[in-house]
Amino acid sequence: MLDRPLFNISWILGRFCNYKCSYCWPYARSDKIDYMSLELYIQVIDEIKSQARQNGFEEFHWSFSGGEPTAYKELPNLIKHLDETESPYQSIHMTTNLSPGSKWWKNWCDITDCLQRRSITASFHAEFAKEQEFGDKCLQLMYEGVHITVNQVMVPDKFFETLERCERLRKRGINVTLKPQSDITASYVIDGYSQQMIDIMQNDFEQQGGYQIRLTDGEQNYFIDQAERFNALKFNQFKNWTCNSGYQSVIIVGNDVKRGYSCREESLGTLDNFKLFSSPKVCITKDCVSSADSKIPKCK
Ligand code: SF4
Repeated sequence: MLDRPLFNISWILGRFCNYKCSYCWPYARSDKIDYMSLELYIQVIDEIKSQARQNGFEEFHWSFSGGEPTAYKELPNLIKHLDETESPYQSIHMTTNLSPGSKWWKNWCDITDCLQRRSITASFHAEFAKEQEFGDKCLQLMYEGVHITVNQVMVPDKFFETLERCERLRKRGINVTLKPQSDITASYVIDGYSQQMIDIMQNDFEQQGGYQIRLTDGEQNYFIDQAERFNALKFNQFKNWTCNSGYQSVIIVGNDVKRGYSCREESLGTLDNFKLFSSPKVCITKDCVSSADSKIPKCK
């Protein structure tokens, strides 16, 4: 996003999830299927592309999450539409519990093959998923050329048993990210971590395959392997910085179109009527707690 005309879309399709983990916050999941029509979603894709192009962005990174995005029956048709309005570069990311079977994932690989880059953040939920099968599906996707990172929320009470499982997955060659748990309003990282735990989340499990974040002070560049570390490092306060969110990126949560998950602004509109910013704007928010937000270009 710093070097190319790349526009980022982070899209929470709905809150429905087929899992019901005891530690999941009520805002993050629902038993009710809450997707909207495929026709509306297709219009939204076209409208985002049109408005982003007016801002000078020709390339698109689509990131789908939920709830559980794979539970949306029309997801394959939605993905097929991405390629219908031509772009020089498009990539797709999904945050998923990886619950569909390997046949479903094979089909996903075939459908997304036309896109230039594919990545998945796979969340392991021990109350529902089986470690062996979960790891097998990660490897299946990796062999198809999909970039996989296992995203592990480190609940303080289960920190070290979770860490052992992450180590076993890493030994199988799978990238793992350790993520601190945020509070019920998703506004800040919860208390309850010892200094040892914080050190592990800040420094361990370095990602293979490059850095997600480049920081510069005008003279020198510094690199961070993944945006999740912003929270672990407590480097997540950008109030009064100029931020490209809403201009070079957009967030969709259900029917709401927003600047970012963390941003305190009024929304940019609804799915059938929204307007992106036409230039970067100053950040008015105290904490930028979502890694989807913190990785959007910003400068002081
Ligand atoms: S909260 Fe984060 S994404 Fe939102 S304007 Fe501030 S820095 Fe940008």
